[in-house]
Amino acid sequence: MTSAALVDRFGRTARDLRLSVTDVCNLRCTYCLPETGISWLPRTTILTADELVRLAHVGIEHCGITKIRLTGGEPLTRPDLAEVVRGIALAHPETEIALTTNAVGLAERAEELAMAGLHRVNISLDTVHAETFRQMTRRDGLDRVLDGIRAAVAAGLGPVKINSVLMAGVNDHQLLDLLDFCLDHGSELRIIEQMPIGATRDWARENLISATMIRAMIEERYQLREIPGRGPAPAQRWEVLDDGRLMGSVGIVASVTEPFCGNCDRTRISADGQLRSCLFSHTETDLRGPLRSGASDAELAALWAGGMWTKPRAHGSDAGGFGEDFEQPARAMNAIGG
Ligand code: SAM
Repeated sequence: MTSAALVDRFGRTARDLRLSVTDVCNLRCTYCLPETGISWLPRTTILTADELVRLAHVGIEHCGITKIRLTGGEPLTRPDLAEVVRGIALAHPETEIALTTNAVGLAERAEELAMAGLHRVNISLDTVHAETFRQMTRRDGLDRVLDGIRAAVAAGLGPVKINSVLMAGVNDHQLLDLLDFCLDHGSELRIIEQMPIGATRDWARENLISATMIRAMIEERYQLREIPGRGPAPAQRWEVLDDGRLMGSVGIVASVTEPFCGNCDRTRISADGQLRSCLFSHTETDLRGPLRSGASDAELAALWAGGMWTKPRAHGSDAGGFGEDFEQPARAMNAIGG
């Protein structure tokens, strides 16, 4: 029963919950985290599995949430991840539960997660070249990610989508190798424009590999045909054709150059229980405190709806855009949930 729909001042309704289960990550992607000196959130503030399940329940039962994506940080760093999935799936079998992961260690856990009720995974992979993987993530592990992709498919967690960020001079020239890998494996590649949200705080527009550049690179080898009916999805999807023959599809998330905030249907809860109406919000609504002090479902739902009402028009402000006025929020991507 939806008693507190997540509507905002601009008439958007949020139904898609990004629920972060941790801020900790086992990779150090250069556009996301610094190599050292990271201050993780205090462990006592991180929501327990029961608390995550409770918030998911409030969202579904009272706030009109129809889809939940577990994210982080790296969700697989939580040993009790399957418990979270199981708790949500048992109470709400009709709700789609997805996971965003770097897939390091997924090979060992894909089956357990599928059995627990997970429906789909999006796997982040920026390159299929081991040396570039090492350079971008500051870790070894490409083979483990590839094993994870295979295990996810085998466990029925497909179709697997592959999320990638392109960096100028680092992996952008390998885009077609990555696309061919995805086409060969029946996965959809989704390229995300790099956003000013990393803990490294070194984003610069002049380094951006834009959607226009991405399409041009793909069209050096293939033809692209736009897939209509995008709805609130962040990715614009394209069919990939080779001399007229359909090879698969590709998605481009052009948050910077072709923003889609007008159709945004997302609501986010950080691993420490802070509701954020927008990835770039400067304000948060504390749900952890009330949750731990015994608030009822209806009280939590009312707080959630109140926090969403003030959702900014675009990119963290009503002015919107990543221009000179843009200010990066204090929380970085890993502590929000990507
Ligand atoms: N650890 C998980 C993973 O790797 O998928 C989940 C969290 S990660 C923050 C989620 C996604 O955000 C990844 O696909 C990552 O590439 C993307 N991401 C991180 N920083 C980004 C940035 N500055 N701009 C665009 N995407 C970013």
